[in-house]
Amino acid sequence: METERYSFLKNIFGRDTYEGFKEKARKYVPVAAGILLLLFLLSLFFHWGFLSTLIDLTFGTSLIFLLFTICVIILFDKGITIKVEYDSFSHQYIPPTKKPEGYTWTVVWGCTLIAIGIVLIYATQKYKNYYGFGCDTFLVDKNSGIYHVDGIDCEEASHSYNLEKMQGYEFQDAGYHMCEECVEWLEDAESAYNESRYRRP
Ligand SMILES: [Zn+2]
Repeated sequence: METERYSFLKNIFGRDTYEGFKEKARKYVPVAAGILLLLFLLSLFFHWGFLSTLIDLTFGTSLIFLLFTICVIILFDKGITIKVEYDSFSHQYIPPTKKPEGYTWTVVWGCTLIAIGIVLIYATQKYKNYYGFGCDTFLVDKNSGIYHVDGIDCEEASHSYNLEKMQGYEFQDAGYHMCEECVEWLEDAESAYNESRYRRP
């Protein structure tokens, strides 16, 4: 009789997938966490277009961040030790038929980790949009508090004389509004390309 760790999440993912993720998680999570942290720290001090692209690719609902979150969740899932039987005929471990003692705690812990993961994805998605806006350039009318998307044919912008070219972060917290025409242009662009380069905060 051998022993191994067993948990709610392992039950959901299946033994092989779970162990596969756990092995990769031990190897890559520290490196990935270091890189993500570095990107985040850089983004606090600089507003670079390429950094925004990197953050777009690695934060929030991007595939990389989703895989990272799953790896982190599995890495922190400890489980309980159970005795398992090995079927030498099918070369497979036989999972326990009855829920072992202490299993409920692995359900609570597993759900807590999933909830933390969802919050993490949501928060980094929010930050990604916030930072992306900060890196984009706009034409800003400081007197009226209205800004326009740079580089499009906006009639209102062409009649405006006090426009200043600014990066999003320079007026992000000033409470300015995007002009109606630009908002409409953005909505069309979003439905056409699914995701626009320009974002609203
Ligand atoms: Zn406009």
